[in-house]
Amino acid sequence: ETSAKIIDGKSIAKQIRDEITVEISRMKDTVGVVPGLAVILVGDRKDSTTYVRNKKKACESVGINSYEVHLPEDSTEQEVLKHISGFNDDPSVHGILVQLPLSSHMNEQNILNSVCIEKDVDGFHPLNIGRLAMRGREPLFVSCTPKGCIELLHRYGVDIKGRRAVVIGRSNIVGTPAALLLQREDATVSVVHSRTNNPEEITRQADIIIAAVGQANMVKGSWIKPGAVIIDVGINPVEDAKSAKGYRLVGDVCFEEACKIASAITPVPGGVGPMTIAMLLSNTLSSAKRMHNYK
Ligand code: NDP
Repeated sequence: ETSAKIIDGKSIAKQIRDEITVEISRMKDTVGVVPGLAVILVGDRKDSTTYVRNKKKACESVGINSYEVHLPEDSTEQEVLKHISGFNDDPSVHGILVQLPLSSHMNEQNILNSVCIEKDVDGFHPLNIGRLAMRGREPLFVSCTPKGCIELLHRYGVDIKGRRAVVIGRSNIVGTPAALLLQREDATVSVVHSRTNNPEEITRQADIIIAAVGQANMVKGSWIKPGAVIIDVGINPVEDAKSAKGYRLVGDVCFEEACKIASAITPVPGGVGPMTIAMLLSNTLSSAKRMHNYK
């Protein structure tokens, strides 16, 4: 019985953050520039508040200045747009992040469109996604979660070129850009979604699986080709009486079964999650470098 190698996202993310810290201090010493990230949070959703707090803490830990605007739930779209416009014009801000989801009375498209693409560190602007989809074009930023997935494959020395990859999920922020990135890396990519017939059979062809569904333990052992590499993006709370909080987090892939069949797999938590934040820091640093023409 084989046992898959565990892809340690937490420690790779730590390594990346250390690299970023060194670069930021070098940039500060040589050209006096400190990268800045602006975060806009609307309302008090518990998960969003936690994500924003973690992003701010991560910024501090590597030497990025963070600027937070926290608006009440009943703010107007105009108010959000006003803050984005202020950050667009502010030279000390190199990245702007609007925490999603926004409340339903706001038009998410208008808001994401208004972030200038040079500061779109989340990579959610349609121009950045469009360029990602086009051959011969380069996006200024790629969204952090899919970028983190590919970075994990690279740092673990996983060959992507010519391999069969299956992405489960097609959201704008994870599944679709993950599929586009794999295709740019010369994988042959299939995308499985909620209307796919026989997703198990398609997934079983994959050398590389990226699961971004939001369904606890959906991908069973029988879905997995022996030796496949699995990147599990899903974060799903399941009841757990033994845990102090009454729940624990699991991925989209049944970890126990997958471990016996795959050659490598990311754990949840401790896999893709920490990489997402590391990529946000990395995008903010690249943005500051680009704006100041600093190599
Ligand atoms: P969405 O809900 O936006 O998208 C889910 C996708 O999964 C959709 O494309 C949907 O298909 C597909 N899907 C749903 N049910 C099934 C099914 N039974 N079979 C096949 N496909 C299905 O989610 P996100 O992309 O935003 O996030 C996905 C997961 O990743 C979540 O658990 C989320 O918490 C986690 N996440 C983790 C991050 C991290 O940093 N680790 C960052 C972002 C998200 P259809 O398009 O047909 O509806």
